[in-house]
Amino acid sequence: MKRKQRILLDKKISVQRFPHFFNRTIRTLKETHLKATEIRNFLFFFILPMVRNLIHYDTVAHLGLFVTGIRLLHGPRVFGDKTADVAHDLLTTFYHDHERQYEELKPSIVEPAGVFDETTIPVELVQMISSVHASICQCQVLNQCIKFYRRFRHKNQIIFHSLAYTKRQSSVSYFVKYNSLFGSIITFMSCNDKQYAIIKRYPIKKLFSDYFVSSPYYGRLMKPLDTFFFVLEKVSFQFDLVDVYSSLYMCVVIEEDDCLIVSPISVYHEHD
Ligand SMILES: [Zn+2]
Repeated sequence: MKRKQRILLDKKISVQRFPHFFNRTIRTLKETHLKATEIRNFLFFFILPMVRNLIHYDTVAHLGLFVTGIRLLHGPRVFGDKTADVAHDLLTTFYHDHERQYEELKPSIVEPAGVFDETTIPVELVQMISSVHASICQCQVLNQCIKFYRRFRHKNQIIFHSLAYTKRQSSVSYFVKYNSLFGSIITFMSCNDKQYAIIKRYPIKKLFSDYFVSSPYYGRLMKPLDTFFFVLEKVSFQFDLVDVYSSLYMCVVIEEDDCLIVSPISVYHEHD
């Protein structure tokens, strides 16, 4: 959603009245710490009528497939024995058209992909940079050959940060999944017209589904959970040099006392 649309939506939410049995009213989107019930109530009851005039009707209708699909599964069987089938049809159609629907919302100004925001070598790489260089280049003039950069724009227009990007404030846009590995991007670099990320790797500690091994849902949940969530060690002993154009997926990182729990973001508009 655009900023203006979001402000309008927040305005609608802030004046909205609720049935007395709603334990919580819905706070506006700009407030943090929304509770699951607030999000559910918002999704089930309010989002469709509220965004109806704000965004294109076709986009709202597409969202309607999801909202009504979930509501059918959540409540009494309003269509009798057919209820689950109707919900399945709505959700499959939603899923099927998802990519196409959001394709059209992509920004119209397309910036060139690649590394940018040049910087100097990060301190923690000084020791190892000559061996990194030797692994990809034969020349003898490392200082003129390798350049370092703070940021990288993916061809999907998402900007990845590195730890060298000090203006990132509290945001975490430097933690990535690459192949089946995970880590923090220390810096980006270029060498001989090729662009790389130097990544501090965090090894996998255990499966996320292990936490639920005693649940009756374990058998069902295991595969999907382990597709979306990964439990990592908090210590790292290894650096990897990775082609920026190989598949890098940004991750949401939850820091626990004894581990990191990360979840790769595969669909970026999920979080708009
Ligand atoms: Zn060189």
